[in-house]
Amino acid sequence: MAGMLLVVSGPSGAGKGTVLRAVMDRRSGMFFSVSATTRPPRPGEQDGREYFFMDGKTFSELRGKGGLLEWAEYAGYFYGTPEGPVRERLARGQTVVLDIEVVGGAQVMERCPEAVSVFLTPSDERELERRLRGRGTESEETIQKRMARAREEYRFMDRYRYIVVNDALGEAVKTLEAVITAEGARAERRPEIFSQYREKTTV
Ligand code: ADP
Ligand code: 5GP
Repeated sequence: MAGMLLVVSGPSGAGKGTVLRAVMDRRSGMFFSVSATTRPPRPGEQDGREYFFMDGKTFSELRGKGGLLEWAEYAGYFYGTPEGPVRERLARGQTVVLDIEVVGGAQVMERCPEAVSVFLTPSDERELERRLRGRGTESEETIQKRMARAREEYRFMDRYRYIVVNDALGEAVKTLEAVITAEGARAERRPEIFSQYREKTTV
């Protein structure tokens, strides 16, 4: 059985990383797709864990070879999803998680219409800036770029199948888990159960 491709987007500071880490700690069979990026690492980030950090030339070679499922430019840097590991994990039946911005999200939805798309946001836009500042990883200039980008990202929100509000962290984690559980139970994802019982039915 092919796995589930889960696309999670939302403005910077929404809590995508935090919510996804919590969900992945609680569930097995999930694979976080590590993206390629030209952004420099933040303190504590490790090559191959948060991202594959690379220069612009290496990134465009990877893109040119057709190695990326999607890619986009975000606040002055390039980001892209290596396609090989995603296909491989899906073939093994795993849930593959993409934490990507909305332009890349749109590319994935077009190429993989069966993808489960989730837009994560706090209910109050002002909370984004508080969280970004609270995280303490970005310069003032980068915070301004990311806040400007956030306003554009909200225009893509209606393309997503689910909206998860991240006000209370525990609630957001539960809601995202509920989405994954329900999507995993969709009839078309369980053909083996379907055919097993159909074969036994005589009427
Ligand atoms: P993103 O990956 O969407 O940019 P992060 O997961 O890095 O966002 O979260 C941004 C900041 O907000 C972090 O400092 C994180 O600890 C904090 N945060 C995440 N979710 C919540 C929440 N529900 N309530 C308060 N703070 C949160
Ligand atoms: P950050 O620099 O905060 O880690 O990420 C900035 C933005 O880039 C976030 O919205 C994140 O979801 C997005 N992003 C991370 N990896 C990818 C990717 O592979 N492709 C695309 N399109 N966006 C990505």
